[in-house]
Amino acid sequence: MNIAPPTVLVVEDEPAQREVLGYNLEAEGFRVAKAENGEEALLLVDEEQPDIIVLDWMLPNVSGIEVCRQLKTRSDTRHVPIIMLSARSEEVDRVRGLETGADDYVIKPYSVVELMARVRAQLRRTRPAAAGLRLEYDDIVLDSETHRVTRDGAEIKLGPTEFRLLTTLMEKPGRVWSREQLLDRVWGRDIYVDTRTVDVHIGRLRKSLTQGGGTDPLRTVRGAGYALG
Ligand code: CA
Repeated sequence: MNIAPPTVLVVEDEPAQREVLGYNLEAEGFRVAKAENGEEALLLVDEEQPDIIVLDWMLPNVSGIEVCRQLKTRSDTRHVPIIMLSARSEEVDRVRGLETGADDYVIKPYSVVELMARVRAQLRRTRPAAAGLRLEYDDIVLDSETHRVTRDGAEIKLGPTEFRLLTTLMEKPGRVWSREQLLDRVWGRDIYVDTRTVDVHIGRLRKSLTQGGGTDPLRTVRGAGYALG
């Protein structure tokens, strides 16, 4: 089992378009959550913690622009990339879209191939390991394609769970992860695992990373969880 696939939240009120988008994203290996209006989108953002949002501009009641604006002013969601979909191609709309903080902008009717490429481009930035890139932190290097980890040039053997745990931590150095968030990301949200299991595997990861005499890069944050660095 590899690390959990990125979750894409699709917000689109037209059922046919929502289904086509969801189908194509799932075919690309993503986990997909779907919302049909702005209110539902805001609820699902809290529930699903998506890695990226594809957001239609024209939605009933709360518009896509308003959803974008709200998410980009919240400290816990402003880092989530948003790709806006719009039927309006005027330059002024493009500018307005970017002023709300949208990370990218695609005009309808769009090519699915192009939209997928835009989604992947955003994720290379925010979920580099899921995109198969090499991660580096201090003297630790993790190759998500070959599953090799080295520290100061020496290979470190990790079990599959420790590898996924390190990948998650290395994607966002400095971020404090709660045990529940690590369970979702590393074990998958559909499996019940006791939160103490996280402590056990963090302990093993710590031991492996420091066996060559390096300092412990993992930080235990009391009452909050764990961070790298
Ligand atoms: Ca619409």
